[in-house]
Amino acid sequence: MNPPVSDAPFELVPPVSTGDAWRRWIDRDFDGVCALDSEGRIVEANLALARLFGVKREDLVGRLLGVPLFGVDPIELVVRVHSGELATVELHLLGRDAPHTWIKLRDITGWVRTRDELQRSREHYELVSRAANDGLWHWDLESDRATFSPRWKEILGHGERDLDESVGEWLDRVHPEDKERVHSALRAHIEGLTSHFENEHRLKHESGSYRWVLCRGLAVRDENGKSSHFAGSLTDVTHRKVAEEQLAHRAFYDPLTNLPNRALFLDRLRHALRRAARRKDYLFAVLFLDIDRFKVINDSLGHMAGDRLLVMIARRLELSLRPGDSVARLGGDEFTVLLDDIKDVADATKVAERIHAELVAPFNIGGQELFTSASIGIACSNTGYSRPEDVLRDADTAMYRAKARGRARHALFDTAMHAHAVRQLQIEADLRRAVERNEMRVFYQPIVSLETGRISGFEALARWTHPERGAVPPNEFIVIAEETGLIVQLGRWVLREACLQFADWRRRLGVSEPCLMSVNVSSKQLSQPDLATQIAQVLEETEVPGSALQLEITESAILEHPESAKAVLERLKELGLRLSIDDFGTGYSSLSYLQRFPIDALKIDRSFIQHLGVDKAIDGEDARIASTIVMIGRNLGLDVVAEGVETQAQLELLRTFRCDYAQGFHFSRAVDGDAARDLLSVARRW
Ligand code: C2E
Ligand code: MG
Ligand code: MG
Repeated sequence: MNPPVSDAPFELVPPVSTGDAWRRWIDRDFDGVCALDSEGRIVEANLALARLFGVKREDLVGRLLGVPLFGVDPIELVVRVHSGELATVELHLLGRDAPHTWIKLRDITGWVRTRDELQRSREHYELVSRAANDGLWHWDLESDRATFSPRWKEILGHGERDLDESVGEWLDRVHPEDKERVHSALRAHIEGLTSHFENEHRLKHESGSYRWVLCRGLAVRDENGKSSHFAGSLTDVTHRKVAEEQLAHRAFYDPLTNLPNRALFLDRLRHALRRAARRKDYLFAVLFLDIDRFKVINDSLGHMAGDRLLVMIARRLELSLRPGDSVARLGGDEFTVLLDDIKDVADATKVAERIHAELVAPFNIGGQELFTSASIGIACSNTGYSRPEDVLRDADTAMYRAKARGRARHALFDTAMHAHAVRQLQIEADLRRAVERNEMRVFYQPIVSLETGRISGFEALARWTHPERGAVPPNEFIVIAEETGLIVQLGRWVLREACLQFADWRRRLGVSEPCLMSVNVSSKQLSQPDLATQIAQVLEETEVPGSALQLEITESAILEHPESAKAVLERLKELGLRLSIDDFGTGYSSLSYLQRFPIDALKIDRSFIQHLGVDKAIDGEDARIASTIVMIGRNLGLDVVAEGVETQAQLELLRTFRCDYAQGFHFSRAVDGDAARDLLSVARRW
């Protein structure tokens, strides 16, 4: 806000000087003008300034004004003027004419008064408008009559007159769930137990809906402390309440699917556990669902498609439940269901079956049909739980069991599973020390060329002999090693052993032997950026040429992080290594990646070979798949290896498919390094 401009604009700065002519010039000014010496004493002043202070001009000279301007221009100053009153002046620096400083004093008292009044009225207005936004009420406790301000009525959708002057108009509108709270708070204040009344509750609006209000009030008491009147305000806080509810919703619901999240599910589970502790006949179950192959869908079709699939799955899960049951999303592709008050365990397995059935129909996402299924683990309250986390853990364990049996299965948690889980933990602890304690070995299984009938290479397979348990199957410890990350060290150790062994065979048998060493590489190893460097070091140290080494990688390991995998694979190719896809046909089986990645060979999974040549009726489909894979491999210029060949009949069939290589018990199991060298040296043909 700027002060009003005076009649004599001081922008017309006079030539700074002193003397009579100068005095005449400044006397025309309506504002006070003066020259100060270096100490702030007036040496020259105009008539206006003399008028302001109510003295003669001469009396001003020598008076100390003492207002250094500090470089701030203008500044406001309160001075006592001729009438003894206080006036506000605004000081402007006109100029400096050493040793004098010329300043102008403008009386802005009137303007300051207006300004302050304005400020006060603005505050007043704010107060008034805030009050206008609040409804006001008054309650005469003696006559029990109440009055409500127009705004009070307006908040509840009523006009000026259409409400009675009774407390009932207020209290009868309180939401049934809030009544108890409101009444006891009112009572407490009227009886003098609280210093004021303040309560948030819902009141019924004329439209039938409820508004959230904040009601504040104070009782007026007589000298005995007895309340006679009660008055207060009513504020509509619906907007704030809605916002608060949204925030609370976010804390307990999964924003993607709008299902309860882990926190809310655990809370409901806690309630169920409490009920189970009280009532002997009460039984509940928790279903733990994990979507099969969700990661592959997510990685290949993108997160948007993955998200849409999760939402659609959520809706189908809701459809397969009874009203009292609740379904939640724990995160990722994991869902949980709480089956409340079931009769027996069979009820839970029935729901699991219903969920499987519900998920069978394809999901249409962006015009594309997707098929999916879930593995379900079930934990029942009859096991006697006390903590919700334990129920979830066991349902999760059962889910893993279901998954191990194949897709779209369910499994019930039992104590044997618990024992199994404990064993897994024990194995994990022991596995950490297995290499150091010399419990690990590498065995070699020959891979046979179907063209020549001779051994063309070996697959290195890890073997673990536990000091107490004996031989632990790789399928058991490799999974644990992968889950715990131990596979990185173990894999490096196997690779080094295999290369040392290979170098040893070469020394003993001569370099002429055309032979390939295949080593399995897990996805965890593949995601190590320095994998190629590690391998290069081992090759150098063991003096094995890169071209003698083949790495077996599963499809899923590549497709987990296709971009980084591509970079790593290319670096491995630069070392001259060969790359082979292991367990081909069991994973995603998209063929496009075979061309995108520098692959040399495919290994047809054992499950397709298993039934070949056993039963003509069932081998039809598998035989078609196996021969198709061979054909695809051929067309892409890849070598094809059949895994798990156990019979002569299978071998012959594979020959008719013109499969390049085979591996299996029919030729030899995996054997130790010396036995493998013997197999090589006898140069047997199949
Ligand atoms: P894989 O890489 O697919 O290895 C082939 C598995 O099939 C081996 O099981 C082998 O013994 C078995 N096999 C070979 N021929 C036949 C047959 O004719 N009939 C039957 N029933 N089975 C046959 P193994 O040694 O138990 O290894 C299982 C899996 O463990 C391997 O599957 C591989 O994925 C993993 N594995 C083993 N050693 C290592 C390792 O050093 N590193 C990594 N990353 N994984 C390994
Ligand atoms: Mg393998
Ligand atoms: Mg395999």
